[in-house]
Amino acid sequence: MIDTLRLTAEEAWRLVDGREISGAELFAAYAGREDDLHAYLHRCDDPGGDGIPIAIKDVIGTKGVPTTAGSKILEGYVPVFDSTVASRCKQRGLRLLGKTNTDEFAMGSSTENSAFGPSRNPWDPTRVPGGSGGGSAAAVTGGLAPWALGSDTGGSIKQPSALCGNVGLRPTYGTVSRYGVVAFASSLDQVGPVAKTVRDCAFLYSIIAGRDENDSTTVEVPTVELPGAEDLTGVRIGVPKEMNEAEGIEPGVSAAVRRAIELAESLGAEVGECSLPRSVEYGVACYYLVAPAEASSNLGRYDGVRYGLRSDAADFREMLMQTRHDGFGDEPKRRIMIGTYALSSGYYDAYYGTAQKVRTVIRREHADVFESFDLIVSPTSPTVAFKIGEKVDNPLAMYLNDLLTIPSCMAGLPGLNIPCGLSEGLPVGLQLIGPQFSENTLFRAGHALERALGFDSVPERLR
Ligand code: GLN
Repeated sequence: MIDTLRLTAEEAWRLVDGREISGAELFAAYAGREDDLHAYLHRCDDPGGDGIPIAIKDVIGTKGVPTTAGSKILEGYVPVFDSTVASRCKQRGLRLLGKTNTDEFAMGSSTENSAFGPSRNPWDPTRVPGGSGGGSAAAVTGGLAPWALGSDTGGSIKQPSALCGNVGLRPTYGTVSRYGVVAFASSLDQVGPVAKTVRDCAFLYSIIAGRDENDSTTVEVPTVELPGAEDLTGVRIGVPKEMNEAEGIEPGVSAAVRRAIELAESLGAEVGECSLPRSVEYGVACYYLVAPAEASSNLGRYDGVRYGLRSDAADFREMLMQTRHDGFGDEPKRRIMIGTYALSSGYYDAYYGTAQKVRTVIRREHADVFESFDLIVSPTSPTVAFKIGEKVDNPLAMYLNDLLTIPSCMAGLPGLNIPCGLSEGLPVGLQLIGPQFSENTLFRAGHALERALGFDSVPERLR
């Protein structure tokens, strides 16, 4: 019997390599499990081959397999080419289990903005799995995939991993190709891995990362080192006070993070306080100008002609308007309006221009901190998983959920979530942020902490 709730991708790989099980058996073990979490929007048949399976977020284009980005406007769209990340997975023999649920166009923090209904948290199905990549995170923890790909603009890999109790990496901007990925905010979007362990996460990252001539923002990346060390000797860890004492952080979350920091110290890390005052104060406001501005431009391509949905109307102009009216949900509409406003003549300098300047301040503030520290730590999400429906009528409360994940995204920096304990029976995520291209440091520290913490990633109700 293959225990899909516990098996790591590394173990699965070893079993298949050693011919103890076949790739087909492994695929069937995941594919045969009922998706009562609504983690998937589309599940695939076994495509053959002998590699291990993977789930891919539905904003990532997959040849011949529907890709909707959680939106009605892309319903029925089947890409005619693979995104670079999907094709790199294929080249390594990985088999596609299916496309995972996401907030529409990756806009959200709970999957409740998916046009196809929310996913559920494997620890408590009455709660959200986080978002936008809640489907990928729920699939990994719920035993529906050994690992998955997500995408992260302002926290969509890190935050769902935190709420579901698994490991997620948002890589340094420019290390993973965005070619063939549905664009939300192009200066922020990054694809990254979600897995049960830091080693799996590092391995999947090594498969997808690297220069791609189809995405001119990509660069060569340092060779990925699979982490093995169990100590943190010599690692300088900064604790930004604003990110650990911010209003709205639940006491149970603070306590678990504090214990993880003490543990890091006992493993040999040098821990000290640091400060990111403007990044925390202005990060969310800045993001909610830059991201919608870019989204308003990127979403211009859904015109009823090139992809998916087309509504009936008398002439072209009306068809275009009717398609966008019918096809986009409330959140994309809200963001298109905010973004268009922020970019409009007369307001451009005051809103978009100012946000770009603030973004530079955020980048510099982080660079200053990394003069003295190798990485910084904070909670990933200020709260544990909240109830489905709890925040749907309050976009601002939903946006504030991103308080701690957004600043480093604005600065283009990599971030790793690892589970660090439970609060009220629900997982708490620890966020590790490093300077550009410091993925190997994050893996090393994440692995050592993961070992020492001994978090059981199988939800109590499923053990
Ligand atoms: N929750 C944030 C938003 O709604 C981040 C989403 C993401 O990273 N794609 O924009």
